[in-house]
This record gives sequence, C-alpha cells and structure tokens, in this order.
Amino acid sequence: MNVYDSARMADVLSPEGYVETKVADDADLVILNTCHIREKAAEKVYSELGRLRDSKDGGKMIAVAGCVAQAEGDEILRRAPYVDLVVGPQSYHRLPALIADSALDKKSAKSSRVVDTEFPAESKFDFLPKANVNGPSAFLTIQEGCDKFCAFCVVPYTRGAEYSRPMHAVLDEAKQLVEDGVVDITLLGQNVNSYHGDESGLSGLIWKLSEIGGLERIRYTTSHPRDMDDQLIAAHRDIPELMPYLHLPVQSGSDAILARMNRQHVAEDYLDIIEKLKMARPDLALSSDFIVGHPGETEEDFAATLALIETVGYAQAYSFKYSKRPGTPASDMDDQVPEDIKSERLARLQGLLNQQQITFNNNFVGERIPVLFDRRGKLPDQLAGRSPYMQAVHVTCMDPIQADAMFGKVVTVEITGAHANSLSASVIKENGFAVVGAMEAASA
Ligand code: SAH
Ligand code: SF4
Repeated sequence: MNVYDSARMADVLSPEGYVETKVADDADLVILNTCHIREKAAEKVYSELGRLRDSKDGGKMIAVAGCVAQAEGDEILRRAPYVDLVVGPQSYHRLPALIADSALDKKSAKSSRVVDTEFPAESKFDFLPKANVNGPSAFLTIQEGCDKFCAFCVVPYTRGAEYSRPMHAVLDEAKQLVEDGVVDITLLGQNVNSYHGDESGLSGLIWKLSEIGGLERIRYTTSHPRDMDDQLIAAHRDIPELMPYLHLPVQSGSDAILARMNRQHVAEDYLDIIEKLKMARPDLALSSDFIVGHPGETEEDFAATLALIETVGYAQAYSFKYSKRPGTPASDMDDQVPEDIKSERLARLQGLLNQQQITFNNNFVGERIPVLFDRRGKLPDQLAGRSPYMQAVHVTCMDPIQADAMFGKVVTVEITGAHANSLSASVIKENGFAVVGAMEAASA
C-alpha cells in the first residue's frame, strides 16, 4: 500500500513540475513514506532522517508522510527539527498546498513547519490525478482503514476507520490502467475482502474487473478470514483471471491466543475456509502472516501454530516477532513474552515455513507455466516475472530483442530450477522464443 501511495504522491506532484530521482542527494524535496506497523519500521524513520540531515542544504525540503507521520507527528518535529512537513496517509492529496505553505512560511521567516494529520471529510481519492503507469503490473487501492481492532495492531489508529472506494471509481481507474498497458492488477486494502463499494462486495468487483478486455490477472491483498465469504470463495473457482494465490493471514494457530488477539475466530474456522477454498480451486497457493510471542503465548500455543502450518502447507508466508505498539491493548498486557523466547520461536517457525516454500517450489521443476514478465534483470537479456502462484521466475533470453518482445507479456515457460525464493526457467522454442539457458536466480 505504501508503494501505491508513494506513486500517487509522485502523480500529485508531477503537475507542479516535480520529477522523481532515485538519488536523495539530488532532490529538492525528499518525502519519506513511512510504516508504523512494527517498532523496527518506525525507528528506521529516525535513522533515515539523520542521514538526510547530514546532506540537507539550505534549499532542500524534507517531508515525512505515512503512518509514522500520523502517529508521531509531534515526536518527529521534536526529534528531527530539520523536518519541514509532516503529512498523514489520508491527506497527501494536499501535498502541493502544504509544500507551498511551508515555502511561504520559510520566506517570511515564520516557523516553516507544516503538519497535516487530519482525517479529512473528503476522500483523497477524489482529488488524485490519473495514475501514471509503470510496467504491466499495477496496484490499485480499493479499501483503507480498519474497524477490527486486533489487540496488537496499530492500523485502526493510523489509517482510521474502514472506508471503501465506490465501485465505479475503482472500475474507472482499472479501465484507465488497462488502456495504458496494464494487464495485471493487485487490489489493495488493509482489509480488502471487507470491501463494500457496493452491495456485491469484493467478489462483485472482481467479476466486473474480469470483464475488462485485456486485463489478464487479478489478485487482492490483504484479507481477513472473517470476511472470506462464500461468493468470494466461488470467485476463485469461476473467474480464470483471479490468480490461484491467496494471502490469508491467521497470525496464530492457538485459540487462546486468537482470542487474546481479538481475531474473533478460532483455528478451526480458518481451516474450514482453507478447505472450501481448496475445493473451489485445488491448485490455490496459500500465504499467511504469523506473529510469534504475542502476550500470553505459551510453548503449547506456539506448538498449535506449528501444527496449523503443517496442516495447511504454505507456498510462502511472512512472520514477525510481536512488537509492542503504543496505544494498542496488547502493549498493556502483563504477560509479555521475553525477547529471547520470541527469537527462538521465530527461528523454528521460519525453519518450517522455509522448508514448505522449497517443497512448493521444487514441485514446479519440469512443469510449463505461464509467467508474466514484468521486470528487467540486471543484464539486457534477462527478464523476471511472476508465476500464477506469485513465485518470482527468471529467464535469460537469446538476445535483448527477444527480451523486449517478451516484456509485459504472459509467456509459457519451462521451469528448470527451484530455489528458496524463486524459480529459473527457459523459454519454450515452439513459442518462437529460443533461449540460451536459465539465469541463476537471485534471491527475492
Ligand atoms: N489486515 C491484515 C493485516 C495487516 S497488518 C490482517 O488482519 O491480517 C500486516 C501484518 O503485520 C499483520 O498480519 C501482522 O502479522 C503484522 N503485525 C501487525 N501488528 C504487529 C505487531 N504489533 N507486532 C508484530 N507484527 C505485527
Ligand atoms: Fe490490524 Fe488487520 Fe486486525 Fe485490522 S484486521 S486491526 S489491519 S491486523
């Protein structure tokens, strides 16, 4: 979502004459778009700011955007007095005006520090210009915020109440993206499957999107098990454009911990959903998020999480040590788990997940699968793409012309090697593309 937001900030600023640079030292304006989900992510902002301060000359403006800006605006101004502008995730459509205010104040020698962390009545989406397209794959935010208040999570406080963009606005943006060359859209939301832009929900939206000619691949993330309704499960069976990959976080396999987390379901409910999904789409690849060491987690609770992982069998997953977030109920619970136990459990959990991921990838060696090539490799004849199951796939082509012909297209390739985080492939000669050999995969 922050990648999407950052791109939209660039879109907002482009009519003002701003262009992106990859080198912070060259920039007149640096915006740090920040994440507050775990302490590590939030602390990184201050070290990044320290680095920017050292290279800040008189004219450079520094802005902090995103959820750290939202949650710690005053703290940022205190700890980093050289920051000019703080803007929350719901106000970045106002960036041009905020930058102008800050510059004006600077000229008149007033305090030039501007803060906007409102949850404005208007939706920023109504004020954003057309999205610039950058390659065949695009993100599209359809829903933001969350009303579920899991005990550990800061999202309801930083992103605010749940909000769905109207269906017609989402469809218009999607059609525009496709017209501009996009063939693959990932729908985004903190709680994307609770989307209610109209009464047909997320499944209704996916049906409508699947009717857009030229849109070949649809995905959505991140979902909550409680919003995984039967229509959405059926969409996985009935809509070929909906890719057979689902990120459905469960966080823990222990009912006691799920209750303390306020997830409002038990492990069995999650397993039932997985079973229904697998019936609808037998080749569905699954992914999840796990938190280890949530307050109150015993060795027995942790063992239940490992057991759930064994039962489901994941294609890949994300896992984190529980991190105390200020203002959340879990941060005040008195049975916090010691850091060394969290680290030890995380290592065990990741050992199991990595093993499952390698097993999943190994199954593809010798198979032919359609890959959307959406990124260039380090050399002109190298391409990288995504399998339907979200694996990174790398090929080396015969020459750069062939690579150009394949870029942005879905091409069926033969998988020649499996690695921890990716697959290598060679292009099938009958497709008119000859290749010299598979490129060794870089880890994702
Ligand atoms: N809405 C999604 C999750 C969004 S937050 C859901 O309900 O599953 C993304 C992930 O960050 C979460 O799934 C969780 O695994 C992790 N996370 C959130 N808060 C955390 C915390 N305090 N400590 C560690 N991980 C956390
Ligand atoms: Fe956070 Fe997801 Fe829970 Fe909402 S549903 S509070 S975003 S973990």
